[in-house]
Amino acid sequence: MRKITLLISALIIALGASAQEIKNIIFLIGDGMGIASVSMMQLENNYNGIIFDKADNIALQRTYSADNRVTDSAASGTALATGYKTNNTYLGVLADGTHVESLMDVAKKCGKATGVVVTTYLQHATPAAFYAHIPSRHDYVEISRQLASSSLDVAIGGGMEFFEQLYGNNLEETLNKEGFTTVTTMEDLRSVSAEERVLALLAKKEVGSDSGTYLADATREALRLMENENGFALMVEGSLIDGMGHANNAEAQQREMQSFMGAVEVAVEYAATNPGTLVVVTGDHETGGLSIVSCDADFRLSEQGVEYRWSTNGHSAVMLPIYLYGTGAERINGIMENAELGATLKDLIAK
Ligand SMILES: [Zn+2]
Repeated sequence: MRKITLLISALIIALGASAQEIKNIIFLIGDGMGIASVSMMQLENNYNGIIFDKADNIALQRTYSADNRVTDSAASGTALATGYKTNNTYLGVLADGTHVESLMDVAKKCGKATGVVVTTYLQHATPAAFYAHIPSRHDYVEISRQLASSSLDVAIGGGMEFFEQLYGNNLEETLNKEGFTTVTTMEDLRSVSAEERVLALLAKKEVGSDSGTYLADATREALRLMENENGFALMVEGSLIDGMGHANNAEAQQREMQSFMGAVEVAVEYAATNPGTLVVVTGDHETGGLSIVSCDADFRLSEQGVEYRWSTNGHSAVMLPIYLYGTGAERINGIMENAELGATLKDLIAK
């Protein structure tokens, strides 16, 4: 009898799981965003509940690379995008040179739309991990060539300068031949139709997020362009959180975090109104070794103030939080390798 009950429960679980198919994945990566950056935003918002507090589920990831305890954005980007750890500076290739498929490649094979949205240039390590295969993350011209011949449907960010170096005056013509509509402003991006593949080159290098809502707006546009009955995989990067960590600038990092959180809110709203959408938010590594300490040495005497103290101008090796929202949020749990998260997302989008 017990066996039958178990069998019935297993069947119910299996049926439930198939009813909860994941059609879309929105993967948001805060470059350099550790748990202290999230804590800083909770504190700066007076603990009123920021978007990270509203996660349906959470997990943790370890970030070390194949050749270093402290990863760079290329190795961690590759782990998150492809499910494999590699050496620092390597993009989409293993230490032995083997090319590995990314979440976007798998999604494309399943007939889904694919896209990336960033605040830095599109050839930067994190986005490039989703479409390029090259051992040097700094070869921006070659990475541009690989982006042009990639199968991405939507790419929004900066990086015009490297395309100019590659194609000179033939830039628009060449990209058109590769199947891309090119635009250089948000206004023009808004008039692109959902049938078109679009490469939005909004700055020579970094777009930046001084405009505040750029990343949220660009994410909304990407969702509009990518929405289709087969689903999509979209990667959105809050790229400059990292740079502000390198500069040990807490105020500037708060602005970058706010901009990133705006994009997370757009994704979570989308998931709430479009069942079948899984939203995954994490970092690629922590930058700056941020800690949040009392202003006063004796906490009993201290006022409510805190100090943001940094311990390095580089990256650190601490674990990172993973925030999950929407359909399938319960399927990612516990403490995992960054590569395990990447592999799981590839599995989930392929089902
Ligand atoms: Zn960095």
